[in-house]
Amino acid sequence: MPHTLTIHELTARLAAKELTAGEATQACLDRVAAIDGELKAFIDHDAKDALAQAEAADRSLAEGVSHDAKPLLGVPIAIKDVIAVKDQPLSCASKILGKFNSPYEATVISKLRDAGAVVIGRLNMDEFAMGSSTENSAFGPARNPWDTDRIPGGSSGGSAVAVAADECIASLGSDTGGSIRQPASLCGCVGLKPTYGRVSRFGLVAYASSLDQIGPLTKDARDAAIMLNIISGHDAQDSTSVPRDVPDYTGALNGEIKGTKIGLPKEYQVAGLDPEVKSKVDIAVAKLEELGAEVREITLPHTEYAIAAYYIIATAEASANLARFDGVRYGERVEGMGPIEMHCATRGAGFGEEVKRRIILGTYVLSSGYYDAYYLRAQKARTLIRNDFLKAFEEVDLIVSPTSPTAAFKIGEKVDDPLQMYLSDIYTISANLASICGISIPCGFTSANLPVGLQLLGRPFGEEQLLRTAHAYEQSTDWHNRRPSVN
Ligand code: GLN
Repeated sequence: MPHTLTIHELTARLAAKELTAGEATQACLDRVAAIDGELKAFIDHDAKDALAQAEAADRSLAEGVSHDAKPLLGVPIAIKDVIAVKDQPLSCASKILGKFNSPYEATVISKLRDAGAVVIGRLNMDEFAMGSSTENSAFGPARNPWDTDRIPGGSSGGSAVAVAADECIASLGSDTGGSIRQPASLCGCVGLKPTYGRVSRFGLVAYASSLDQIGPLTKDARDAAIMLNIISGHDAQDSTSVPRDVPDYTGALNGEIKGTKIGLPKEYQVAGLDPEVKSKVDIAVAKLEELGAEVREITLPHTEYAIAAYYIIATAEASANLARFDGVRYGERVEGMGPIEMHCATRGAGFGEEVKRRIILGTYVLSSGYYDAYYLRAQKARTLIRNDFLKAFEEVDLIVSPTSPTAAFKIGEKVDDPLQMYLSDIYTISANLASICGISIPCGFTSANLPVGLQLLGRPFGEEQLLRTAHAYEQSTDWHNRRPSVN
């Protein structure tokens, strides 16, 4: 069952010649063929191309190329449909891009290829990464493998489903306000949002450029460290990527968290927090204490402004970023009488409801007269939120919370209530506003057998500590090993 393996398990077997990359890739493709009709994690995949990449990996393995040189040699990895892969479709789960194929490769994809990965397909998501449930996909929602009547979370829902249901070994997602961590939590896998600037955004279709960050979804913390090793680093093509050395993140996984100071923010006891989620997180925190961490209460006093500030800043940036989809440069065009009519008809037909709602909101908060009242104030709130975190990190090494206030909800339950939907991100959004790093790891199941995620937040560029703690927790629990039964 090669598709059920982690990266480190698979590479060990490939190196020992117990398996080939072709077999591993075929196993993932068979799994997709068997279950993805129902789960809809994938928007597109090209089996022939994947097998050709696997064959090339097998040739390298036969020539003696090691996983030290190419840590992902022969490992099938799937990609959120918002990250450009050369000559593959790039739709951002929107109708507006039509049959657009990317003419170039995102930096993270070049890095995956240099590391020997087999890039196997395009994963479902909320249109332009706007949403928390994958219901905003123009291709229809992906489904949670633990209960297919439920959402997988979003916006990287396909990335979480594909990993949790063993359709690939690991995947990439993007996180603007929680879109890696929240679906990882709801599907029972690991999702890491790196510090802003750790990973190049070149080739990531921009939603909110000051908040977006690419990161891995994986089956365990070690795999997250392996993926982060590969995708991190400065990139001349992205001026917001930070010229800072990339440590060996797997080297941080020493199981030792004695003395790690962990903060529990008192503001995170919100009204919508499901009691079952709270109790699983409380148990996980007690486990961390048992492992030697020192837990104390902290305060992040401006937390209540996070969602409002986020939805002003993110929509403002989105309204500018999405101006490029105008019927001229990319994808679909709906003809009209003259360019303005063509432009309006194209955008009217091409964008979904939620994207339109956000473009309108973003244009409004940036308009003269409202700019000071909304956008500027949101930026000030953002600074206060970041300062809360930096102050807290003088006292503690990590901050812990639930990843999501509830387990996966039913498909359709919140589609008519955008504000309720926005509250799904209450625990994740602040990390993007503060430009810090965060991870979600499985920490239990509700009585309905739905996964619950524990979120750890770390200092800017504190990914080593996050991963060390996540890994130590995994060493003494087995939540991350549970798999949904989908056939
Ligand atoms: N759910 C949030 C939103 O809709 C976050 C999305 C994301 O991180 N891409 O904006």
